[in-house]
Amino acid sequence: MALQGATASLGVIDFQEMAGRVLAGAELDRAEAHAILNCPDERLDELLKATRKVREAVFGRRVKVCLLRNAQSGICSEDCHYCSQSRISRASIPVYRMQSVALLLEGARQAVETGARRYCMVCSMRGPRAREVEHLAEACERIRSEFPRLELCLSLGLMTFEQASELKRAGAGWINHNLNTSRRFYPEICTTHTWDDRVATIQNVRRAGLATCSGGIVGMGESDEDILDLGYAARRLRIDSVPVNFLHPIAGTPLGGLHALTPERCLKVACLLRMLNPTSEVRAAGGRELNVGPRQAELFDAVNSVFVNGYLTTPGWDHARTRELIERAGFEVEAPA
Ligand code: SF4
Repeated sequence: MALQGATASLGVIDFQEMAGRVLAGAELDRAEAHAILNCPDERLDELLKATRKVREAVFGRRVKVCLLRNAQSGICSEDCHYCSQSRISRASIPVYRMQSVALLLEGARQAVETGARRYCMVCSMRGPRAREVEHLAEACERIRSEFPRLELCLSLGLMTFEQASELKRAGAGWINHNLNTSRRFYPEICTTHTWDDRVATIQNVRRAGLATCSGGIVGMGESDEDILDLGYAARRLRIDSVPVNFLHPIAGTPLGGLHALTPERCLKVACLLRMLNPTSEVRAAGGRELNVGPRQAELFDAVNSVFVNGYLTTPGWDHARTRELIERAGFEVEAPA
């Protein structure tokens, strides 16, 4: 079995050699991917160093800062078990309908002022209706004309090709729609739509000429195989930007009591996603501060992007604190928009 084979040979795995092959265009096999995920803690520094070689070859020492905007909060028909905004969540969070174009524009201004390169408007919903796409398209046009250098992303649930095309025409550059986990594990975290529904949205987005942002969440009770499947799926789907969330368990959600992650585990997951997706953006997202804690600076050996000012309904570090972290780690914040 792959896991046993990888585990048995961990002592001889040369992570630098592996990084060299990744840079030459090779796809790591599953035994190698397992070896990364199960790297002994005493070899983690070696793994991070090798991963940094891959990261720096494509992204140098730059770190892209992103800002999220909860454009519609707490209103969703779906039952994603990790999510505070789902229909089954009892979490105490703000609930409001879609924000006005003026407020979304104000959010973009805040993003620019805080030094962000990318601004992502997120709506809690299964998918947008026609008038909602129209509203968001208007917001995109206004933001695009006022802040032409700001990368514009939307996260709106399931989308058709026509909806994605309308947003593309309005100036959106990216659509986020996370795969979240493996196809196999998906029914354990959501029953109201499928993993394949999500893949279909990603394909619609790509066909419309938009860049794809799709990653996952670890720490939800998934197996190593599920994390590997997620990493390989991102590779096969040629995802442009792969965010990795580290579960921030929220009271009132079905996963509210789960605390399965260690900083070391989070770092190994980030290394795996980088090694499997060497030319994609890999972004440390929700749960970074909570789960990676004192080892956050080491994340930059794998990721080239982070979020500031929190994650929709959970708090996070502000720009100043995050910038200090980035610079202390020997990296530099990408020039703001
Ligand atoms: S579709 Fe999005 S907002 Fe709705 S429950 Fe799932 S993760 Fe939350």
